[in-house]
Amino acid sequence: MKHVAIVGSGPAGCYLADQLLRLVPDARVDIVERLPVPFGLVRYGVAPDHQGTKAVARLLDRVLARDRLRFFGNVEVGRDVRLDELRELYDAVVLATGAPRDRRLGIPGESLPGVIGSASFVGWYNGHPDCAAPPLLDVREAVVIGNGNVAIDVARVLAKNAAELAGSDLSPHVHERLLAQRIETIHIVGRRGPADAKFTRAELAELGKLANARPIIAEPQALAEAQRALAAAHNPDNAQSPEHSRTSGEAAAIVEVLSGFAQAPDVRETAVRIVFHFGATPLAFEGGERLEAVRFARAGIEPLVLPAQLAVSCIGYQAIDCCTATPNAGVFANEGACIEDGLFVTGWAGRGPSGTIPTNRTEAQRVAQRIVAELDDHGRGGGEALAARLAARGVRVVDHAGWRRIDAAELARAGADRCRHKFESIEAMLEASSAR
Ligand SMILES: Cc1cc2nc3c(=O)[nH]c(=O)nc-3n(C[C@H](O)[C@H](O)[C@H](O)COP(=O)(O)OP(=O)(O)OC[C@H]3O[C@@H](n4cnc5c(N)ncnc54)[C@H](O)[C@@H]3O)c2cc1C
Repeated sequence: MKHVAIVGSGPAGCYLADQLLRLVPDARVDIVERLPVPFGLVRYGVAPDHQGTKAVARLLDRVLARDRLRFFGNVEVGRDVRLDELRELYDAVVLATGAPRDRRLGIPGESLPGVIGSASFVGWYNGHPDCAAPPLLDVREAVVIGNGNVAIDVARVLAKNAAELAGSDLSPHVHERLLAQRIETIHIVGRRGPADAKFTRAELAELGKLANARPIIAEPQALAEAQRALAAAHNPDNAQSPEHSRTSGEAAAIVEVLSGFAQAPDVRETAVRIVFHFGATPLAFEGGERLEAVRFARAGIEPLVLPAQLAVSCIGYQAIDCCTATPNAGVFANEGACIEDGLFVTGWAGRGPSGTIPTNRTEAQRVAQRIVAELDDHGRGGGEALAARLAARGVRVVDHAGWRRIDAAELARAGADRCRHKFESIEAMLEASSAR
């Protein structure tokens, strides 16, 4: 038997396990996950009101249920087992540990209460056991920094009313905290122009359909400029590569949605304004005891100063150490997924925070081919040996059946208003995992 250990049970780890099991009939694949619960950002990143997207967890769960796969939940590499131990026990080890740390802006005031990175903020509203509640105190104005879908998720979750959040898996205490704020304005601020925004069309358009909020463009002339630039790029006289024209097609779609927001008649009485600003570079978070405003530089015109009691920066994520393996510039350096002989990487840990969940599936096919080409049977102990070592250390491993018990308990306690009520502490998860 060949033995492969995958560290991390997010989409990248699960899709890779699936591919390896298909390609190598004489392989066993073990997934080692630091939390008692699987699926990484599907559970803790994807927005709670996007249950259609979160439903991919059901497909990933089928992978965990496959023969020749063992789930080692509540086992952290670096805390419960060392990376070099895993490498002794397995023929190949793959890091699929994601990119959990917020990139920092590195500007004054970043540690003021009220300033928070999206990993912490999204982790909090998704009930991640590591993410404490942010200091939300009478927030009237919020600033969301970034022009990707995470910025849209944050703005949407802040803007939705109780009825719109019903049926999500937002926990009751998060729901109460959000609804207790009387938010009037959410600014979404991007450093570059509208045509460079990384939103996807559907996510952006959804903001125009909220019951309680209305998107507004602070400087509509930026849209006209973007449209002119895109039209010039589209001109058949200006030769383009197919890749470039696809990208400019996406940009045109985004500019079109934004233009629709700018032209929408101002007739709806809504509680919340979602204001888009472009071409503004964060300079400083300002305030005494807590955040009071965010200052931005703009080319050729006076700075933009937006009063705010909450600022969420959504500017990307970085990988962190996995035991002795250390990332470089936010990712684990690799050549075609290989870090060094017998050690591989996949997903956000290897390529950085880009792409959607299906991107990880496509990548898994390629990474699996690479691993298979180098995979030999060295007669190693694999999962049996790992289980014995963890038992000797008193590590409380949550297996797949244990996760299923947590899952069933969370669904059972959901009540009428939500689809799931997550456990938010490791202790509560462990208790549910062993309940009969
Ligand atoms: C806020 C947000 C919203 C998103 N929304 C969407 C969306 O709506 N649709 C979409 O398609 N994509 C979305 N994405 C992108 C998607 O979540 C990622 O593409 C995907 O989760 C990356 O998968 P991954 O497995 O590389 O990392 P992750 O999902 O982060 O999984 C990494 C796993 O590794 C575990 N781990 C880390 N370190 C260790 C260790 N030392 N030992 C053991 N285990 C460890 C973690 O606990 C985690 O479970 C979103 C991303 C974010 C941040």
